[in-house]
Amino acid sequence: MTKPPREPLPDQARTVAEVLAARSVDPAVGLSDEEAARRLAETGPNRLVTHRRTGLVTLVARQFASPLVALLGMAAVLALWLGEIEEAVAIAIVLALNAFIGFSTELKATRSIEALRGLATPNARVRRGGHDRVMPARDLVPGDIVLLDAGDAVPADLRLIQGADPQVDESTLTGESVAVAKSPEPVAPDARLGERHSMLFLGTALLKGSARGVVVATGAATEIGHLSQLVTEAGEDTSPIERKLARLSGQLLWVILALSALIALIGWLTGKDARLVVEAAIALSVAAVPEGLPVVATLTLARGMWRMARQNALIERLSAVETLGATTVILTDKTGTLTENRMEVRALWLPSGRHDTDAEAGKAMSREAEALLEAAALCNDAVLDPASEKGIGDPMEVALLRAAQAAGQAPAELRKRLPRVRTRPFDTQHRLMMTVHQAQDGYLYALKGAPETVLATASRIAGDTAPRPFTEEDKAHWHARAHEMAGEGLRVLGCAAKRAPDADGDFAEGLVFLGLVGLEDPVRADVPEAIANCHRAGIRVIMVTGDHAATARSIGGDAGLLGSDGPVVEGHEIQALTTDGDAFIRHGIFARVTPAEKLDLVRAYQRAGEVVAMTGDGVNDAPALRQADIGVAMGKRGTDVARGAAAMVLLDDAFASIVSAIREGRVIFANIRRFASYLMACNLAEVLVVGLALAVTLPLPILPLQILYLNLITDVFPAFALALGEGERNVLDQPPRPPAEPILGRPQWRRIVGQSLLMSLATLAAFALAYTGLALSATETVTVAFLTLGFAQLWQVFNMRAPRTGVFVNEITRNPWVWAALGLCSLLLTLPPLISPLAELLGLTPLGAPLWGLVLGASLAPVLVWQAIERIVHRR
Ligand code: ADP
Ligand code: MG
Repeated sequence: MTKPPREPLPDQARTVAEVLAARSVDPAVGLSDEEAARRLAETGPNRLVTHRRTGLVTLVARQFASPLVALLGMAAVLALWLGEIEEAVAIAIVLALNAFIGFSTELKATRSIEALRGLATPNARVRRGGHDRVMPARDLVPGDIVLLDAGDAVPADLRLIQGADPQVDESTLTGESVAVAKSPEPVAPDARLGERHSMLFLGTALLKGSARGVVVATGAATEIGHLSQLVTEAGEDTSPIERKLARLSGQLLWVILALSALIALIGWLTGKDARLVVEAAIALSVAAVPEGLPVVATLTLARGMWRMARQNALIERLSAVETLGATTVILTDKTGTLTENRMEVRALWLPSGRHDTDAEAGKAMSREAEALLEAAALCNDAVLDPASEKGIGDPMEVALLRAAQAAGQAPAELRKRLPRVRTRPFDTQHRLMMTVHQAQDGYLYALKGAPETVLATASRIAGDTAPRPFTEEDKAHWHARAHEMAGEGLRVLGCAAKRAPDADGDFAEGLVFLGLVGLEDPVRADVPEAIANCHRAGIRVIMVTGDHAATARSIGGDAGLLGSDGPVVEGHEIQALTTDGDAFIRHGIFARVTPAEKLDLVRAYQRAGEVVAMTGDGVNDAPALRQADIGVAMGKRGTDVARGAAAMVLLDDAFASIVSAIREGRVIFANIRRFASYLMACNLAEVLVVGLALAVTLPLPILPLQILYLNLITDVFPAFALALGEGERNVLDQPPRPPAEPILGRPQWRRIVGQSLLMSLATLAAFALAYTGLALSATETVTVAFLTLGFAQLWQVFNMRAPRTGVFVNEITRNPWVWAALGLCSLLLTLPPLISPLAELLGLTPLGAPLWGLVLGASLAPVLVWQAIERIVHRR
């Protein structure tokens, strides 16, 4: 006799009825709202903390973790040791201020990126109070009845109640990439995770079929919730661009250290006061490195992501921001992306002839038309809400229901009279959907799909009294008709049906062709302009569709695609074409493409050196989305699986949003390049001023603390202002940036060196004049140099305009933040000599009007000279 188990059986081992009873729920009705609310209060929201918030302590710690801070600390200690208490305190204050600015910026940026992630909360289809509805997955509670279709992510741990051949990708849980078939049958109580075929787990996704399950665990109580390392997995924290900038700062540190050592050596050899030289070397090495760089980059990225989100493009991978700007090819879907996806039935082609529905409106429908629309309404997953007339589901299927309704075939009644017993869902591979319905005298098979498939499958055609054989000649005629409708830009569907004594027979045998349906789906109004923008921007737009070649060409023509007058390539030709050189690049439209062929196409473009953005919505699109440089998933019609594979999600599914995002990506890159160049030039100028002065045996023109003070102002505020720029108006008039191009490449460095040389020469000239010619006091000479360099760095922002833009009207002068930063920083430069404790600390003194004239003149000279040089170079 076996002992009864003390523990209740786990859910996977119980029968469906037991599991439902344990959760006290009737699967036909679901939980009531009150009951669900009560359970939600008990279990808490169904949420894993997958994107852990970066803690405040972490953020603070990060500010002090840089080698630069260590260096500054050493400088402070050294100052203490040399007996310069004031200076040590001042360095400590600078350190704290710097950390504070870094902290507050990073806090803001980090929180805003986290908030963006919150926007993308997943939904679930749930039966509650007898109705199916879509609601946020975080509101799920144990006992909820959840409905899943192919492509849906599993929103909680479910016990399967019912399934139509469901197959699940459980690789996130088990690492096993083979799809797992599920069934409601109980399994052994001690079955391993990968063998619990009666369960569906949070974090996995339905690849095929459909399923209905009852929630048994939510949030942290789920299997994936138990795997703590997955829970805290934060995804990528930093983008490649931030990492590159951090690396740049790091490398610079060594360069500067070497330079400082050299300066110290020169100073020592020329017999300068050793203390001053050592201090100068330390201050330089600290101050000359643009600490703000990674912080400003983070801010820029965060802001850019928000701007993109406002334009309906949600970034899922940080790296996408950078890659977007370099995109050279967009491979786009047709339906719903280029077109409205607001379909309407325009024409029926029946065995007796063509009927355009505008002309036929109101006329009694023939038997033939009735049969066609009956099949179209039965083989259909959409629903017409009887009260609001609103359709739910695939817009094409909704259009078919509307047409049936208008012809007097109310879909709801049809479905009641002929209940569905079996489904073969539509897939983009075979382009076919089939359903089987219980009729009074046996079963009705209904089928719809791409005309070629349906014509190839059917062996009879509806006739006046009874179906007759469907000859190859007949089929050729029907192909021509489908082609004709497609040529009008209509999306064409073929329908077929048959009666059979059993429900699980071969659907192809004896299938009766009923006719063709033509649906209109107009091009979105903003698409032609968006495509024209792409062309100006040197980005090619390629249509890759599962639809008929003629439909694709007609829509392509309306959208203004290049190559829409050339030959349309069909999916099966892609393999041969892409292995045969780069000829495929000339084509603009690919039709009847399967997801696998999409992947081939993406790879072929990448081999040809292109940066590829590709849109997709289905489960099968996931590999191509992952392969593309920018996978773009559809927010409305896309599956969770596609979203999971994508780098960006389009909230409105619209093509124009991709173009906005690309524009924003270019602006972000240009801004990062701009403030990075700016900071580098300012810092290099400081190094040069000290270095050159020591080399020509002038005294130190600018003191260590002054350098720190300058950096605190010039590093931060104008750089922030540049980071906030809206970009050039004509960013889309330029070709894409080569993907391998670094942030600071040779042309940028040339400018940085040139501009910093000018700034340091102007500063040294003013200093030399004050020192030798004007016989001023030491403090006065130093003040002149400090102010000249300070203001020269402010005016340096005007050197940051793009070469092609106007000298006076450009993205810098249009940027209000630049003016605000200039105003603030001018004040911060003018005040210190006037405020006595600060003046003493920094070693400054008030200047008279003539000396101010010298400062202003000398500080303006570099920007004026540089602009003149640029004009001359540009003329040539
Ligand atoms: P698209 O690139 O336009 O989104 P799809 O791959 O979705 O193309 O569809 C390709 C073809 O499959 C369509 O032209 C149509 O004939 C057929 N088709 C599309 N959706 C369905 C469906 N739900 N049921 C049956 N056939 C469909
Ligand atoms: Mg489609």
